[in-house]
Amino acid sequence: MQITCHLPISIPSINPRTSIPVLSLSSNPRLISNLTSIQNPKHGFKIPHKSQTGFSKPCFVLAAMRSEDGVAVVVDDAFYMRKSVELANRAIGCTSPNPMVGCVIVKDGAVVGEGFHPKAGQPHAEVFALRDAGDLAENATAYVSLEPCNHYGRTPPCTEALIKAKVKRVVIGMVDPNPIVFSSGISRLKDAGIDVTMGVEEELCKKMNEGFIHRMLTGKPFLALRYSISVNGCFVDKIGEGDTDTGGYYSKLLQEYDAIILSSSFSDKLPSISSQEDTNASIQPIQIIVASNVLQSPILASSSSTVEESGPKVVLFTGKELVAESGINSSGVETVVLEKINLDSILDYCYRRGLCSVLLDLRGNIKDLAVLMRDGFEQKLLQKVVIEVLPEWSTKDERQIASMEWLESKHVKDLQSKQLGRSVLLEGYF
Ligand SMILES: [Zn+2]
Repeated sequence: MQITCHLPISIPSINPRTSIPVLSLSSNPRLISNLTSIQNPKHGFKIPHKSQTGFSKPCFVLAAMRSEDGVAVVVDDAFYMRKSVELANRAIGCTSPNPMVGCVIVKDGAVVGEGFHPKAGQPHAEVFALRDAGDLAENATAYVSLEPCNHYGRTPPCTEALIKAKVKRVVIGMVDPNPIVFSSGISRLKDAGIDVTMGVEEELCKKMNEGFIHRMLTGKPFLALRYSISVNGCFVDKIGEGDTDTGGYYSKLLQEYDAIILSSSFSDKLPSISSQEDTNASIQPIQIIVASNVLQSPILASSSSTVEESGPKVVLFTGKELVAESGINSSGVETVVLEKINLDSILDYCYRRGLCSVLLDLRGNIKDLAVLMRDGFEQKLLQKVVIEVLPEWSTKDERQIASMEWLESKHVKDLQSKQLGRSVLLEGYF
């Protein structure tokens, strides 16, 4: 399905609202013990969710309500929403152009149904969770990390499925920025007499789908810049120990992002750029190589394929004259010829392919990425920066970009750090 995007639109600020009292966990120890005593033995009471890169802040919200038989039941909306986010994250890297969505159906303090959206074209999270719950969904509460859809796409509307299943209450993490949904799902549920609570763990839900949201609001994929530096601030062409292994931050980034832009000097090392988080090749990001110089581009200098056809998809962006000069004929490589290499064209290509997120990774000889960096800053196409600070003092800067005078000072928002084995990871937004 091609998603039509009318731009620009904005998401209104959502104030968390509950129809029942909300109390802080730390301010009411009695409720903590009550909650623990009614926790679902199947699913247990877990530590607060952490996002993929581990920067999220814990947030507890407890609410008390009375069940039909008059027994007081403590409901932890935030807990079940984090559970929905955990479920959604099982499909990380697999759902573009759709968002990741998770759903939990809860009845009388017990989880009776779970589901998540596995990939575009497959049923939505609510459908899987309602199927899992069966008749138990009646009078239950559905927790969904994103507003349920209210339109016929490749699947029927989830609002109708929730109404048909006779759920009593729906708790939603965030409004869907997709213009063909955008609050109509909430209205439909309310019109059907369902109690709707909005904005529970909203920031967590938004962070999980920052790529999808950005794509919907701007018509371009979310773009992040990544590089490594020494403690004395020099650019270092290295990834920290263990970071590319299963569970390492770099392996997780490759799982999370739909595409990765690399220097053409790296094109003979492409098989080594793969996420170890899953053996499913479909989660590997598309590898985008920008080649502007034959001599510095192994992929252009070689007349035969250097790419394994069974590996991740490789797309080569280059200029007309370079193709003629190199006579490139690599099977397994899609070549996109541009009049002039620029970031906007590359991102447009990614958008048309349904990609939500792209990582500009500064590794190898990054001279050929300088123009993309300049475009990224000048045209405000860069959204995020991920920096690994390695535990070393470098004697030379390997940046290899002679001058960055074109760079304007930029304020980095929400800068956060995280210990990463022997390194420190920094993450912030432009
Ligand atoms: Zn849906």
